[in-house]
Amino acid sequence: MSPALALDLEVAAVVAVAVLIVALAAAASGACRDDAGTAAAAAEDVERALGGATLVAYAQAGEAARARQRCCAFCQSEYVKAPGELVRVVPACGHFFHAACDADRWIRTRRTCPLCRGALWPPAPRPPVRAAAVVVVA
Ligand SMILES: [Zn+2]
Ligand SMILES: [Zn+2]
Repeated sequence: MSPALALDLEVAAVVAVAVLIVALAAAASGACRDDAGTAAAAAEDVERALGGATLVAYAQAGEAARARQRCCAFCQSEYVKAPGELVRVVPACGHFFHAACDADRWIRTRRTCPLCRGALWPPAPRPPVRAAAVVVVA
């Protein structure tokens, strides 16, 4: 192999590696943007789930929900209808937990219902699909 050919091959290899690095960096930055968007949306869901609207007195939690959930999943003690007993309600499934039992920490770190492990919020309704206009040319 001549020295000139070896140099050409070396330059070609360096260019190929540089192109690969740029392509990987571009793909990675795109992936990071998507992850950041998803993470931001999930963080927003968590903050909404931990808002004042989901912190209610046990007596205010839905009657049907109270009938099927008599004990707190964290402390296993029965709920009482004392005015000061606040519960954190998961909007998607209606499960609730003593606020004092720190369900908030679970929700903040795992982003799911502590009891059923379901999502915090029901899935957003999909926009209606509009029928495409049909033009008939006679
Ligand atoms: Zn509890
Ligand atoms: Zn649940």
